[in-house]
Amino acid sequence: MIITHSAGQLWKDCPTRYKRRHVDHLVLAVKEYTPHLFYGTAFHSILERYHFDDFDVEACVDYLVNEISLKNEDHKAHLIASFLAYAEKEKKLQQWDEFVYSEKEFRQPIIHQGTGEPHPDFIQGGKVDGIVRIGEQFFLLEHKTAARPDEHYQRRISIDRQIHQYALFVSKELGIEIEGVLYNVIPKELRWSRKGRKSNGPLEGLKDYTARLKSRYMEKEFLRFYVSLSPVTMADVAQECWTIADGVSRMMREDSWFKNTKRCFDYGRRCPYWELCETGDRPDVMSLYTTKDPHEELSIV
Ligand code: SF4
Repeated sequence: MIITHSAGQLWKDCPTRYKRRHVDHLVLAVKEYTPHLFYGTAFHSILERYHFDDFDVEACVDYLVNEISLKNEDHKAHLIASFLAYAEKEKKLQQWDEFVYSEKEFRQPIIHQGTGEPHPDFIQGGKVDGIVRIGEQFFLLEHKTAARPDEHYQRRISIDRQIHQYALFVSKELGIEIEGVLYNVIPKELRWSRKGRKSNGPLEGLKDYTARLKSRYMEKEFLRFYVSLSPVTMADVAQECWTIADGVSRMMREDSWFKNTKRCFDYGRRCPYWELCETGDRPDVMSLYTTKDPHEELSIV
């Protein structure tokens, strides 16, 4: 079986939530529209075409107009304006010599740090946004969209365990050393501003929004920066992967999953399995759900 970083985090957050998604394969039949999630996914998709497939700016805009589905037309206008501002600023930033891989998947054994044995039930899977070469060195490329990419944000993602986990397994998968991570952080803004910044001022139009975004990106908020990998965190992460895989295995064998109710309303949203937990899996509530294979981000599971 495969476990990914996000599945492992889900299990750490609430084992019952992990079970509903990764053992029972349940998802809500009607997918909730979360603009920030859709925006982030769409931006990842266009950056892949722009940087890896060498689409020019015009082809990228065509792609956004014709291929990307965002329910809210305003959000789509914001996405296109953000991409145009990004493309203008991006040329002035640190470039790589070669974009070696895009959306690179990996699958690797999870090794016990004491015995060197692979885990009997799980392998680690995942997908990185990209791998670039600068000189003779290789870096993970991570695209992020963030509402406020300030210094605090930069510090927070610098210690992100996911990138350490990715570096650990990608270097084994490809037989190359990963020197660090090159972050590509795009500020996002999904609201029109009021002209003159007055609360009763008229809403800006697309032209003003685009100009405001371009100047925001041009000044300081669009970030591309390196993060080096911490050997201590790499060792911690290698151990943690085993601990998580073993914990999930045990719960599966015993079919015993506890609920962590502290996580029911994370990020101001109700957990998608709230109704099931509330009603004790009442049969009529099951009709709100359908089944879907886990690890949607991977091509083969
Ligand atoms: S509703 Fe709460 S307890 Fe139930 S699966 Fe979600 S996070 Fe866990």
